[in-house]
Amino acid sequence: MKIYNVIGYSIIIFDLLACMIFAPAHLGPWIGLLIGGVYFFFFWFLAGLYLADVLHLGIAHRSLDYKEWFIKLVILVNNFFGLYVDPVAWVNRHRLHHKYSDHPGDPNKLASDGFWRTLYLCVIPYSCNENLANDKIFKSWPFRLVANNFFATFSQIFSFSLLWWLVGDLKFALVMWVGMRIFALWVNMIQNYWTHTRKYGYRRYNDEHDNAMNIGEWLPVTATFSACLQNNHHHHPGLLRLSHDVAEYDFGFITVKFMKYLGLVKATAKGADIPKDVPLEALNF
Ligand SMILES: [Zn+2]
Repeated sequence: MKIYNVIGYSIIIFDLLACMIFAPAHLGPWIGLLIGGVYFFFFWFLAGLYLADVLHLGIAHRSLDYKEWFIKLVILVNNFFGLYVDPVAWVNRHRLHHKYSDHPGDPNKLASDGFWRTLYLCVIPYSCNENLANDKIFKSWPFRLVANNFFATFSQIFSFSLLWWLVGDLKFALVMWVGMRIFALWVNMIQNYWTHTRKYGYRRYNDEHDNAMNIGEWLPVTATFSACLQNNHHHHPGLLRLSHDVAEYDFGFITVKFMKYLGLVKATAKGADIPKDVPLEALNF
């Protein structure tokens, strides 16, 4: 098994075990496991929806056109209760990551950065010297409310205090809250380190200007909502799906198709255009 899968499965198992061990006596280990599992699953899913589906394909690349109220709802719910990520700063960093992939100017990682350096950069990225995030929607009140350092601090305190109050036990709340964030760091490392280091994954396109790789196993694809198909995505960043072959498992695309079924999203002309070298006969969207 590849090292990134060993680490990913280990984090999930240890997180759930810790929920059983640290569950307060009046709940017991099995209810503790149930609460910990629901918390983990719900906030992982919400963060994936927020970052990979809405911010990434909906705003940063404009491949998908979401209902504006839905974007604002996801922004508010995720950043009040879940894993806080400044949406404007994230979109700017992501656009710079595509512009300078693996070279000076990429806030995520330079080609020479190793595992520990990239782990540090997941928390404190290189500073951005350009502003590529001037979208009109960033002027709306939900974005102005959450996209600042004051709200970032408030969100951490609020989301933890609320969880603590709900479960009524400090240690149990800490285990769930911290465990979720360790898993999020692993998800971030899949995207920033393992899929930008040439010795992992595979390449469909031999682009020499970056180190983007595809990782296609079940756990990384599911956990990242398919963002680990980086080689495909960097080759054609505008396409609304990150799998470029029907044989590639694409969890993120399944979630987007479900939102389309609910009437929450449609393709943009840019997102629906299949480039000639992509081996897909139809988008299937
Ligand atoms: Zn992208």
